[in-house]
Amino acid sequence: MAGRAAGGNGMTASTHAADVLIIGGGAGGLSCAITIASAETRKWFAGRRVIVVDDGTSDLKKARLFNAPGVEPGMLGTELLEGMEQQLARYESATILRGTVQRAERLPGRRFIATLESGEEVVAEELVLATGYKRWDVEGLDHVPEPHPRIGKANRIHLPHDGCYRIEPDLHVAGLLAGGSSQFAIAAGIGAQVAVEVLSRWAGRATHVHDNA
Ligand SMILES: Cc1cc2nc3c(=O)[nH]c(=O)nc-3n(C[C@H](O)[C@H](O)[C@H](O)COP(=O)(O)OP(=O)(O)OC[C@H]3O[C@@H](n4cnc5c(N)ncnc54)[C@H](O)[C@@H]3O)c2cc1C
Repeated sequence: MAGRAAGGNGMTASTHAADVLIIGGGAGGLSCAITIASAETRKWFAGRRVIVVDDGTSDLKKARLFNAPGVEPGMLGTELLEGMEQQLARYESATILRGTVQRAERLPGRRFIATLESGEEVVAEELVLATGYKRWDVEGLDHVPEPHPRIGKANRIHLPHDGCYRIEPDLHVAGLLAGGSSQFAIAAGIGAQVAVEVLSRWAGRATHVHDNA
């Protein structure tokens, strides 16, 4: 879906279009993307697209996990990340772009545009910020992180939200940047909740995604 030609919508050859752009492909961002994409066969999903942009600094890369529910005890965080990326790759509706988002802002009207350091752009209807609780280098939004409420270390950050991870109706925060404590299950759980909020908007009613045994 990348590389649409320039047209009246202002998109260029290096512009990608998405219904949801997730900035950050760690525990929170990938969980959000997997849950959204898992609904791709629903009628109301209607061919929508999810793009994750990630530059490879997830805290999971430093972890060996013994207490993450459902994860084989002792698994390396790198293996867990790789498995989640492979899981996401099973869905046609999802794409991962490697790179750093330097700027994200609103276009006139409703959509967002994000610019990567490569010059590539992503135009999206909804934006999920899942960049972790250690760094914030995305310029252009009207929201700036505050000190994290649940971590006993300086320089940890979070973005305030409405209690269900919404900053604006179409702008969400996931993972530890949403204020969760530093556990894989918490970061991934917030990502899944954000996904369900997005899917519920698309479905026009409260929903979730289950598969039967
Ligand atoms: C040493 C260590 C050990 C740990 N051990 C455990 C454990 O045993 N059990 C447990 O449950 N948890 C453990 N954790 C915690 C777990 O790793 C985190 O809770 C989880 O990774 C947080 O997920 P996140 O999505 O918020 O952030 P991350 O997983 O850190 O992901 C954030 C992602 O955003 C990307 N990003 C940021 N800014 C940009 C940008 N501008 N453009 C593009 N991409 C961007 C980064 O590259 C990164 O991949 C450990 C963490 C560490 C550091």
